[in-house]
Amino acid sequence: MIFLDNASTTKVFDLAVERMNKIYLTDYFNPSATYKGGRDAYSYINESREKIAGYLGAKKEEIYFTSCATESNNWVLNNAFKNKKGNIVVSEGEHACVFETAKNLASKGLDVRFAPLGSDGRVNIEKLVDLVDDKTNFVSVIHVSNETGVINDLTSISKKVKAKNSRTLIHSDGVQGFMKTNTNLQRLGVDFYSISGHKIGAPKGVGVLYIKNGIHIAPYIYGGGQEKNMRSGTENVAGISALSVAADCYKNTYSDEYIKENYNTALALLGRMEGVEIVGNTEKNSGLIICATVDGVRAETLQSVMADDGVYIGRGSACSSAHSGNRVLSAMGVADKKIEGAIRISMSPLTKKEEIADAMQLLEQNINKIRGHKIG
Ligand code: PLP
Repeated sequence: MIFLDNASTTKVFDLAVERMNKIYLTDYFNPSATYKGGRDAYSYINESREKIAGYLGAKKEEIYFTSCATESNNWVLNNAFKNKKGNIVVSEGEHACVFETAKNLASKGLDVRFAPLGSDGRVNIEKLVDLVDDKTNFVSVIHVSNETGVINDLTSISKKVKAKNSRTLIHSDGVQGFMKTNTNLQRLGVDFYSISGHKIGAPKGVGVLYIKNGIHIAPYIYGGGQEKNMRSGTENVAGISALSVAADCYKNTYSDEYIKENYNTALALLGRMEGVEIVGNTEKNSGLIICATVDGVRAETLQSVMADDGVYIGRGSACSSAHSGNRVLSAMGVADKKIEGAIRISMSPLTKKEEIADAMQLLEQNINKIRGHKIG
């Protein structure tokens, strides 16, 4: 089996599983309990908070654990401003959990402005800044695109937006950026940043919202007062602790050079295939996600034939693959016909060179087979 759909989810690191087992089977106390077991359980959360803060160049009080990035993003979009006055600016390159939440706010009467993408998949900064005015509550721009791997220049975006309106808050969905590119939040200049565990070898069901010190945001979930009264609900101790273990493992396996090598190999092999085009900026890229359009083939068919042969590839965001089309690629100006054949190959730091070579060879064979059989 060759797994090249790591942008959708990842295999959990052995050490993270070991940590979860220890917590599930031995240290399973409620972290709110005041006896020793409870205090020990709470210390797992605190250790993880410190570790994640370290990886983000943040302070530990700025880290809030959630159930997933979808929750983190919904929290910010729904609660980062007090009323329906003013406007928010959201890029057209957002994941559905930001985009659909923004659309829902628009349907309730909020002025939501969508900033266009360039053909390389990055948000057009000039046009985004044009949409900001003195009533802009916040701006949301994805850090690394889950569709194309392109990296938005958050440092420049936050500087330019704040120069126009210093009260505008900046949110970024960092799910495909965390541990995969520079995520020093001081440098990026963001006020909110969302991450998800299952994209870096932690289990599904744990996420983080970074909220910069001094920024006011209403709680999202009310109840027992966990997470400093900001996000109630008994903490997912095992998941939270596994997140920090996975972050360490990810860091230890991550090599910029190795990822670039694999990325360039895959690009070169795809580039030699007839009727295959790479979509998005390949220079400003995490090097872990490749989006390519394949002429004369339906991505769905190709994906399924590849899976039958034991190679898993994606076709756009797994969360929206039930819907036809691809909103983000359309926003980049990719023609509908090309989008029908858009596949996503996403690697991890553990992807082997041979796996790339074997998968690309099989991909070419299957493309030819499908074209020959005119299945697409
Ligand atoms: N944002 C991006 C960019 C993603 O790639 C994903 C997952 O596909 C999400 C948000 C949603 O994350 P979660 O599964 O933790 O809700």
